[in-house]
Amino acid sequence: MKVFNTQTRRKEEFEPLVPGKVSMYVCGPTVYNFIHIGNARPMIVFDTARRYMEHKGYEVNYVSNFTDVDDKIIAKAIEEGVTAQEISERYIAECKKDMEGMNVKPATTHPLATQEIGGMIEMIQTLIDKGYAYDVDGTVYFRTKKFKEYGKLSHKNLDDLRSGNRSLLVTGEDQKEDPLDFVLWKPKKEGEPSWPSPWSDGRPGWHIECSVMAKKYLGEEIDIHAGGEDLIFPHHENEIAQSECCNGKPFAKYWLHNAFLNIDNRKMSKSLGNFFTVREISEKYDLQVLRFFMLSAHYRSPLNFSAELMEASANGLERIRNAVSNLGYLLENAADDSMTEEEQKRLDEVMAFETKFDEAMDDDFNTADAIAAIFELVKYANSNVSAGNTKAFIQAVRDEIVKLCDVLGIIAEEQQELLDEEIEKLIQERQEARKAKNFARADEIRNQLLEQGITLLDTREGVKWKRA
Ligand code: AMP
Ligand code: ZN
Repeated sequence: MKVFNTQTRRKEEFEPLVPGKVSMYVCGPTVYNFIHIGNARPMIVFDTARRYMEHKGYEVNYVSNFTDVDDKIIAKAIEEGVTAQEISERYIAECKKDMEGMNVKPATTHPLATQEIGGMIEMIQTLIDKGYAYDVDGTVYFRTKKFKEYGKLSHKNLDDLRSGNRSLLVTGEDQKEDPLDFVLWKPKKEGEPSWPSPWSDGRPGWHIECSVMAKKYLGEEIDIHAGGEDLIFPHHENEIAQSECCNGKPFAKYWLHNAFLNIDNRKMSKSLGNFFTVREISEKYDLQVLRFFMLSAHYRSPLNFSAELMEASANGLERIRNAVSNLGYLLENAADDSMTEEEQKRLDEVMAFETKFDEAMDDDFNTADAIAAIFELVKYANSNVSAGNTKAFIQAVRDEIVKLCDVLGIIAEEQQELLDEEIEKLIQERQEARKAKNFARADEIRNQLLEQGITLLDTREGVKWKRA
């Protein structure tokens, strides 16, 4: 599998630090409002990358934070006359609903910045002790000049930045030694949430959050760090500086960045006001259509949002679902014989589409080509599977389409009621997940069952379940 690494600007063979395991950190949203479909792009594309790696047999530890302390959250809280916590809790819950609608799997861990302040203070202290950071009247800055590799991710010329960019000297930060220095800790202003620290009662800067959460949940060195391309500079550049200076080790092996979702060829963003929230889109379309639309382009290509492209995505998805439902219909009436020799041969042809799909995804997650492979398979099924085929063959073709769609997080079949034995199997898996302290997976299973109207009761005699 090859991935394009922003740092080396090349596609590189993917070799995880620990064979068979992938540690992945994706910068999450700042939660002060409903997410817009631009924010949804990294969620969908990196969830797809995760699903593909799982399909290849990797165990993926996927961490994505919520930034729940920030100027914009505080401003919104003041506007509504409520606490910042109330705002962030509300929009985390809404964001999770949107993620579920888009079939984005919950991360293994979704840390919250406000729950990790201790770790941040510790990292800042280490940076001060090592001479990489300094305190001026309660504000702590990172001493960028001391990190010789600063700029290695964004390939920026630092002298140009320094001389040309006086605006980096943000008001209130004029005590910095250098315009490129950035804030690790800032003292509170009246009415803001704050935490005690050795430097001042205050709150962390944005960049330190991710360095600390990645370290705590994934370790000092991680395989993949991802986010939208607007995060390359300064956010990810600063994360590298903090983590590498603190830990004395390379931080992330591969840096992956998605291009923007545009509207009229301009970045969709809250500040420009040219956005649609995921919630708005869900009123007009099945969110699966949104997911399909996002995956119809390569994640590193800019993607322009338009009603026409959404229509095309709706049609494409419909074509796949029709094929799956036709196969389901054929299945009901098919003979229960074992596969014929002819069908065995045909199955090899069917599997060739999976090879094509895998090749596309192995090439830096080329979802556009992967979808093309699914369409070819659908076309093949439409013209080669008929009422004369055996159940085993029809089932195998149908399963193959559903499976490849599932790798992309696309739901190709009508949700069917779970059979008793499937429920028992999921409960068993949940018990094992709990034993292995994989509570995220255990919760995921409980929620999955809940969606199907099945509630679990943990009793002394074991787990009982009932249908609603
Ligand atoms: P924010 O809440 O602005 O920090 O953004 C959360 C994530 O969404 C980051 O990874 C951003 O890079 C990404 N993002 C924001 N706007 C867009 C957009 N228009 N297209 C693609 N990604 C975006
Ligand atoms: Zn981040």
